Amino acid sequence: MGEAQPTDRSPLLDGFRRYLREHGLPVTTQREQVAEVILQSLGHLSVDDIERQLRERDLKIGKATVYRTLEILAKSGLITERDFNEGFHRYERVPGHPHHEHLICLRCGRVIEFTNEQLERLKTMIADEHGFQHHHHRLEIYGVCRECRRQAGADRPVTSSPPIESR
Ligand SMILES: [Zn+2]
Ligand SMILES: [Zn+2]
Repeated sequence: MGEAQPTDRSPLLDGFRRYLREHGLPVTTQREQVAEVILQSLGHLSVDDIERQLRERDLKIGKATVYRTLEILAKSGLITERDFNEGFHRYERVPGHPHHEHLICLRCGRVIEFTNEQLERLKTMIADEHGFQHHHHRLEIYGVCRECRRQAGADRPVTSSPPIESR
């Protein structure tokens, strides 16, 4: 483990190193390793997810370092913090991952990303109506995903009364 991995040359990681240096913050291997996990992913990772991935790479990094690194990464604009109402935050990479919204399944936790042009226009209109200068927005739609709905349908006993719940 630890021999020069191709990701060592990642421009995003370089960007992080530069940010640390420019802000007089120590560039440590541990910070780089945490940054690598989140910057390589296009998912929505919780601190637990990140710790699991670090363990899989045989890396032992304290929670405090993980949190601190995520905080710095968020300030640098390389990642953004998400709140899907789970009682903890998730993080996702920003570069190469344009603005989007999320659908979140309440059963399985699946997160589906989407963009919608009409919605983008609408948000400016709404802001304008209120004399507001739009800065940014986020939309999370909570519900039950297609797979979970399908499963619920399959699990339902066929013999009992006809399916009424289609709302
Ligand atoms: Zn689901
Ligand atoms: Zn996302």
